[in-house]
Order: sequence, then structure tokens, then C-alpha cells
Amino acid sequence: MRFDVLTLFPDMFRHVLGESITGRAQEKGLLVINPIDIRDFTSNKHRKVDDYPFGGGKGMVMTAQPIYDAYMSIVKELDYKPKLIYMSPQGRPLTQKLAIELKEEKHLILLCGHYEGIDERVIEEIVDMEVSIGDYVLTGGELPAMVLIDCISRLVPGVLPSEEAYSEESHFNGLLEYPQYTRPYEFNGKKVPDVLLSGHHANINKWRREQSLKRTLQKRPDLVEGNKELQEEIKKLKLY
Ligand code: SAM
Repeated sequence: MRFDVLTLFPDMFRHVLGESITGRAQEKGLLVINPIDIRDFTSNKHRKVDDYPFGGGKGMVMTAQPIYDAYMSIVKELDYKPKLIYMSPQGRPLTQKLAIELKEEKHLILLCGHYEGIDERVIEEIVDMEVSIGDYVLTGGELPAMVLIDCISRLVPGVLPSEEAYSEESHFNGLLEYPQYTRPYEFNGKKVPDVLLSGHHANINKWRREQSLKRTLQKRPDLVEGNKELQEEIKKLKLY
């Protein structure tokens, strides 16, 4: 899968996504993450990318022209139109469901804002979707873009060792994951639940399902609220 990122800080992507799982996936050619410096597309000699807001007010606004030209430099080479996502606190909240939807795209372009944001006219012109990583405001779109890339990337076939590595995790099926344990068997007097050492897979799966339901109910009751099937299952198992 290919990600082009329009940003004022391309090195941030190389440093962070060049490490660990996303770094190895790039080496294997499963991911292409291509940060593009918006400043390289300015038409003024000072490489200025921002200006004062019309109507007054604090801060600066990113100008339309370099962003538009950076975007055009990508799409003019292509015979298809990749989706352009603007990382914005005003966008659709990022969820596992949205990540699953977006992993079907072979190519995404992400746009990172800074300062007070971006001239609205370029947003109208090139943006297909706005995505927010939460109801709070960050200084720039780079961290949100990296969160989105990481979240989608681990769903791309081959990036993780198997589909199971993510399909049993929190939020994939609307529940939180069951507790995990590793060696040693005893730590500070606490032992690993016996069922996990039994080798009885049906019992282990049953225990894990119950734990998932229990902790979702405790930690995120909102995830259970609108889901009749889960409520029935919880009732049947007397987990309330
Ligand atoms: N003035 C804008 C507003 O009130 O909607 C916020 C601008 S913010 C300081 C600068 C940039 O950071 C935004 O253009 C966006 O790209 C990014 N950003 C900030 N918070 C974000 C969030 N929660 N999700 C995604 N992007 C965010």
C-alpha cells in the first residue's frame, strides 16, 4: 500500500515510521511511505507557506498554492485518483472500522495542516475526506497522519505475521481484548489462570471470550450499549 504525505516536516515520518514494524514493512516493499515537503512547491524565494488570516485574528494560515501544486505533482503521474485525506480535528473520528475501510485503498494521500489550519479553498478543491484522531487539538497533522498510517498498515496483508494478530485485538469485533500473560508462571505472588495452561483450546477460547465481554462491560460499557447481541450473550453468561 502506498501513502504520500503532504507535510512541512517530512523527517518526522522517516524517523518514526522507519522503525519497528512499519520500518520492516517498508523494507519488504509491503508499504511505501513517501513524505513530500510542501515547501518544495512554494513559488516565492523565501519558501514561505503561510500568511495572515483575512478578517484578522491570531495565528497564520497555510496558503493554498504550494499544497495544490504538491498534490498535482503526485496525481499528474497517475491514471487513477487516490483519496486525499486531510488530518483535521473537524474530521470523521478515526476508529478501527474506518481503518478497515481505508485499508482497501491501494494508495492514500494524507495532508497535514499546521498553524491555524489551511486556506479553505484548497480543502474544497482537493480533499475527499477529513479524519480526526480525537476531540482535542494538536499543533500539526503529522502525528495524526502517523497514527492513521500505523493503524491501517498493520491490517495490510504480510505486515503482521497473521490475520489473527489483529483480528482478535481490541475494537476489531467491537470488544476489548482478553488479558494476556507470559512467563514466569508466578509474579509477585500472582499466578497465571490455570485454564491457560490446560492445553484445552475450547476452554481457553471460552475463557477468553468471557474475559473480553467482562472487561468491555467494565472499561467501555458504551461499546456494549447499542449492541443487542452482546447484551444477550452477557446476560446468558450472567456477567452483569
Ligand atoms: N484551527 C483549527 C481548528 O480549530 O479546527 C485547528 C488547527 S491545528 C492547531 C493545526 C493542524 O493540526 C490542523 O490543520 C490539522 O492538520 C492538525 N490537527 C490538530 N488536531 C488534530 C486532530 N485531533 N486530528 C487530526 N488532525 C489534527
